[in-house]
Amino acid sequence: MAKVFCIANQKGGVGKTTTTVNLAAGLAKVDQRVLVVDLDPQGNATMGSGIDKRAMAQSVYDVLLESASVAEARARSESGRYDVLGANRELAGAEVELVPLPHRHERLSRALQVVDAEYDFVLIDCPPSLSMLTLNGLCSAHGVIVPMQCEYFALEGLSDLVNTIKQVHANLNRQLQIIGLLRVMFDPRITLQQQVSDQLKAHFGDKVFDSVIPRNVRLAEAPSYGQPGVVFDPSSRGAQAYVAFAQELVRRAPQLR
Ligand code: ADP
Ligand code: MG
Repeated sequence: MAKVFCIANQKGGVGKTTTTVNLAAGLAKVDQRVLVVDLDPQGNATMGSGIDKRAMAQSVYDVLLESASVAEARARSESGRYDVLGANRELAGAEVELVPLPHRHERLSRALQVVDAEYDFVLIDCPPSLSMLTLNGLCSAHGVIVPMQCEYFALEGLSDLVNTIKQVHANLNRQLQIIGLLRVMFDPRITLQQQVSDQLKAHFGDKVFDSVIPRNVRLAEAPSYGQPGVVFDPSSRGAQAYVAFAQELVRRAPQLR
């Protein structure tokens, strides 16, 4: 059975997509079978995996509207050695088109069940909002991985997400839990970041992953080459941190219920 994780944080630019594609490539490196689902109409995880979002015949949009199966719509990230259910601007329309449809928040979940046995991990890159698209992600998942920068307002933003996860858990998906908080773009020389990191650990204990992702320019450069940083420059500090994170997740995954 595949472990299905949403990479979510309602803030934009916090490293969700970077985490999704690099974790996927990191997991593939340690021989895990991975599907990335791009739920953001910006299609950054799609492009960052080397797939042209404008040239896709079918995408996650078609899966949500049930005009294609996951098997029909997925593509292969050759560089990252994982599969991608891609997204493009068309997906923005799904938000409205889903409203009158039955099971509108469960459509991704139902579609993913068909390919469950083909993967060890499914990683869902969520848009920066708590929308119907994100809800489809949360209803499909065992857990949520929350990338965050250790900044002053980080904890404040977290409470909305935590409340949403609690509500989805109570009403729609009993298995949903926070898997962990991942500190990203971390710079230990900045005292404030150290302080926020300490606060995070005090509040959330072992829900904070041991792995820390440093701020590293190679991770930011990689998408313009259509590759995750883990593939683009495997020896960079950022790539090594994401591979270590993938290994931490593989260690923790069996204990997740
Ligand atoms: P989100 O998906 O949450 O909007 P992204 O993953 O797109 O965030 O990251 C936002 C920006 O920060 C991108 O330009 C990305 O390349 C850059 N970035 C993400 N993580 C790192 C990192 N660890 N070091 C340096 N730049 C990063
Ligand atoms: Mg993104």
